[in-house]
Amino acid sequence: MTTTRTLREILAAGERSYSFEFFPPRTEAGERTLWDAVRRIEALRPTFVSVTYGAGGSSRDRTVAVTERIAAETTLRPVAHLTAVGHSVAELRNIIGRYADAGVRDVLALRGDPPGDPGAPWTPHPQGFTHAHQLVSLVKEMGDFSVGVAAFPEKHPRSPDWDSDIRHFVAKCKAGADYAITQMFFHVEDYLRLRDKVTAVGCDTPIIPEIMPATDARQIARFAELSGAAFPEDLARRLEAARGNPAAGHRIGVDHATAMAERLLAEGAPGLHYITLNRSTATLDIHHNIHGSNQSSIQSTQTPRSTRHALASHR
Ligand code: FAD
Repeated sequence: MTTTRTLREILAAGERSYSFEFFPPRTEAGERTLWDAVRRIEALRPTFVSVTYGAGGSSRDRTVAVTERIAAETTLRPVAHLTAVGHSVAELRNIIGRYADAGVRDVLALRGDPPGDPGAPWTPHPQGFTHAHQLVSLVKEMGDFSVGVAAFPEKHPRSPDWDSDIRHFVAKCKAGADYAITQMFFHVEDYLRLRDKVTAVGCDTPIIPEIMPATDARQIARFAELSGAAFPEDLARRLEAARGNPAAGHRIGVDHATAMAERLLAEGAPGLHYITLNRSTATLDIHHNIHGSNQSSIQSTQTPRSTRHALASHR
C-alpha cells in the first residue's frame, strides 16, 4: 500500500517543496488557459499546486470547484487557500468539510482583506474570526490537515512594527501551522531578514518564498497595490525600456526571478512557490533554468544539511 506523505512530513524530512499557484478563472477561455497550465505543470511533478480564494460570491465557489477537480482528475496535491472574510465559523466548517470529502488535506489559512478595498479597516464577520491563527486552529481541530499560513518579508502592511508582526506570525505557528508561504517580494534580503527574525525568537516553521516573475512594466503598479512590495528601480527601468516588446520583457523578468530563486535556494530556503497567473510560460522557464530540462529532478532536491537539521528538530 502506498501512503501519501503530508506537506508537513515532506518539509520535516528536509525535502524542498516546489509549488505553483493558480486562481479561479472567470470565463470559459480562462478555464481552458488554466487547465492547459495545470497539465503542463503536472508533468513536472511539483510538490503541490495551490488555488487562491476569491474575495466573495461566485469566485469562491469556483475556488472550491477548481480545487476539487485538481484532487479528482490530476495526480497533483492541491492546497486550498481559505480566508475568514465574510464567513461565519459554521460556514468555514462547511467548506473545510467539503475539502475533506474531496480528499483535500492541505489548507492555506488566511485572514483575507476587506473586499473591494484591501486598505479599508478590517471588520470580522459577527460570528467569524478576527485573525488567521483562529482559522489555523479550526482547520487543525477538524482533521488531519497540513496547514500553511502567510508571511510578509516586508512585514504586513497593517503591522505597526516588526515586533508585533513577528509575534502574530509566531502565534499562527503555535496554533499549528506547518509551514508558511511569503507574500511576493523582489529583494532577497527582505526574505532573509524575516527568516532571521522568526528564527531569533525560536520559531523554525519553514517559510517558503514566493516567486512572482515580473515580465511587463504595466504589472508594477498592480504589484505594489496588492502586496506593498518595494519594486527594484533597476528592474522597473529595464521593464519600462522593454514596453511593447513582450519577448524582451519576458526575458528580463525570467532572468531576475531566476537569479532570486537561485540565491534563495543557496541561502537554504525550503523551496519555491511560483505565482503563475494561470500561465505556465514564465514559471516553466524559471523552473528549467534552475533544474535543467530533467523534469523529474523537481522532487529530488534536499535542503542543505544545516537547514535540514533545524527543520527536523522542530518536529
Ligand atoms: P493575519 O495573520 O490575521 O494578520 C493580519 C494582520 O493582523 C497583521 O498585521 C498581523 O500582525 C495582525 N494580527 C494578527 N493576529 C493579531 C492579533 N491577535 N492581534 C492583533 N493583530 C493581529 N487573500 C485572499 O483573499 N485570498 C487568497 O487566496 C490569498 N492568498 C494569499 C497567499 C499568500 C501566500 C499570502 C502571503 C497572502 C494571501 N492573501 C490572500 C492575502 C492575505 O489574506 C492578506 O495579506 C491579509 O491581509 C493577511 O492575511 P493573514 O492570514 O496574514 O492575516
